[in-house]
Amino acid sequence: MSPNARILIVEDEEPLRMALGDALRAEGFEVLEAADGEAGLELALTEGPDVVLLDLMLPRRDGFSVLRAIREDRLSAAVVILSARGEEWDRVQGFEYGADDYVVKPFSTRELLLRIQAVLARTSGTTPGMREEGGKVRIGEALVDFAAYTVLRDGTHCGLSRRELDLLRYFLAHEGEALERGRLLDEVWGRDEFPTVRTIDTHVLKLRKKLEPDPERPCHFLTVHGVGYRFQRHAAER
Ligand code: CA
Repeated sequence: MSPNARILIVEDEEPLRMALGDALRAEGFEVLEAADGEAGLELALTEGPDVVLLDLMLPRRDGFSVLRAIREDRLSAAVVILSARGEEWDRVQGFEYGADDYVVKPFSTRELLLRIQAVLARTSGTTPGMREEGGKVRIGEALVDFAAYTVLRDGTHCGLSRRELDLLRYFLAHEGEALERGRLLDEVWGRDEFPTVRTIDTHVLKLRKKLEPDPERPCHFLTVHGVGYRFQRHAAER
């Protein structure tokens, strides 16, 4: 369902963090781990995980503060709070700060996996994680900032044009579908303009250059011969 979805675990209890990490890797997820709130926030902002499993009582920066900072940064990650506290107040505050789900310790790995699958399913049908127009979305190793018109990859920023972002937004909303060039022209460029199919190819080439690890061998913007293109957010193999 979500090949290579990236999950960040922010949890200071080492045995729990390691057990979760092992269980999630066994399910095929890519796992990142942080033992305190500062390190967790840093990883969230630089690595753009799809899901953050967030403990509340953390050294250096508490979970609520991490959650608020993630949302202020418009990061598209789904956040599942892991808490020893099951108080109604925490739960309400978690959702107010933008948590997607809330799991009370102790929980079973099975239950947590189901919750993760549910939040991933919720955020992948629509444009993944893009609750707001100006969100940030990770595509493979690249983190695209729709508000700033930039992409961050290998530590460097690069600009994206409005049209490139429009095309990318359309690809994100139709991930996995073979999209005909004519349809892309109609939907992204509209009828008032007169671009040619060549325009599509040029823009896809630009997106590949900016987002693909190897633009010559694309793993996100795939050519469908005789049709057009098919987009996948996570590369099939790494
Ligand atoms: Ca803790």
